[in-house]
Amino acid sequence: MTPSPRRYHITTFGCQMNKADSERMAGVLENLGMEWSEDPNGADLILYNTCTIRDNAEQKVYSYLGRQAKRKQTQPDLTLIVAGCVAQQEGEQLLRRVPELDLVMGPQHANRLGELLEQVFAGQQVVATEAVHIMEDITKPRRDSAVTAWVNAIYGCNERCSYCVVPNVRGVEQSRTPEAIRTEMTELARQGYKEITLLGQNIDAYGRDLPGATESGRHLHTFTDLLYFVHDIEGIERLRFATSHPRYFTERLIKACQELPKVCEHFHIPFQSGDNEILKAMKRGYSIERYRQIIDRIRELMPDAALSADVIVGFPGETESQFENTLKVVADIGFDQLNTAAYSPRPGTPAALWENQLPEEVKVDRLQRLNHLVSIKAGERSRRYLGRIEDVLVEEENPKDPGQVMGRTRGNRLTFFPGQIASLRGRVVPVQITEVRAFSLTGIPQSLG
Ligand code: SF4
Repeated sequence: MTPSPRRYHITTFGCQMNKADSERMAGVLENLGMEWSEDPNGADLILYNTCTIRDNAEQKVYSYLGRQAKRKQTQPDLTLIVAGCVAQQEGEQLLRRVPELDLVMGPQHANRLGELLEQVFAGQQVVATEAVHIMEDITKPRRDSAVTAWVNAIYGCNERCSYCVVPNVRGVEQSRTPEAIRTEMTELARQGYKEITLLGQNIDAYGRDLPGATESGRHLHTFTDLLYFVHDIEGIERLRFATSHPRYFTERLIKACQELPKVCEHFHIPFQSGDNEILKAMKRGYSIERYRQIIDRIRELMPDAALSADVIVGFPGETESQFENTLKVVADIGFDQLNTAAYSPRPGTPAALWENQLPEEVKVDRLQRLNHLVSIKAGERSRRYLGRIEDVLVEEENPKDPGQVMGRTRGNRLTFFPGQIASLRGRVVPVQITEVRAFSLTGIPQSLG
């Protein structure tokens, strides 16, 4: 029987959903009486929460694992765990690749960590990747922030974008009930949290899998309904949500975001390509004209809204002129932030098997040209803040300057200004913007009145 370890370390790769899962798994380990170790080499239990969205993300974990597997040869009671999307994708194969592993668990099993560890401590090597109904988590997550919190609204994704591995590794959509989400948010408000980000791979599809979801063809539990349902929770001052899908971004949702004061005017709506032929090959389910309509409507009702998105270049078969269509969209719309990536063939996805893959050098060249344009446009967008007063929700001390604090505007811009974190954490401070950079701002605090 392995004695129970004392200290744990979690390394998280990838998206906000993984960060939220890691916070919950940390909560499970602390519930088992373990303590966080900042240094992985000071920990008795090491957990890697992994990402497989692109090949380089997947490869990262193997070098980390190699080091700890070696350490285990001299420290046999070290517990080694791989969680997240690589665990789900590789399953048993991971045990063959790294026989020192104790537990391989997919994202759907994050809430079952305690139960799975019982089997490990009983001496078993465990693989948990079967599809399960995700149980509500009662454990108190160990959250990174004391001011802003992630709250899962829907797990998984039913879309079938031809390049994406997410549906294979995170499973079908599972919406939490509005009541469960409201209960968690109310508890967070009681703990002093001020801002909640509602999370989902495809958050706008929220609710369509809930029982009794439709009445005479209208969805009763849509994401817009959820926003109205949780908007009045006392203590919560700001609401955000991610990640949206243009296919489900409705007029009703845009109106709700304009109407509901707590909903921040920041929208993350990936468009992936500016070319309709490529969007069709990606199986995205919308045209670039439809995407532009959504952006235009948001700007009509919320002219100063901040926009961010994801885009892929070098998709199989993408011609120079199709790539230029993407550049044109980026130039026309002017995103506040754009996550850019070169196409990476993923196991189990249709596009990975297509013959018309592009050479790496073409992908790299297009990514560089796109990133150049993105930083120019982001700089232009940032300039609108100069001289303005922005409400900043203070989250932390500036790690580079203890005389400064940092937080975000409603437009999700990271902002720094002079102040003491002890008195300002969790407060919304009006800040006059005196300096702008492509992706962050600096300013002077105005009196809190
Ligand atoms: S919507 Fe498409 S890109 Fe997004 S997670 Fe689902 S399958 Fe992947």
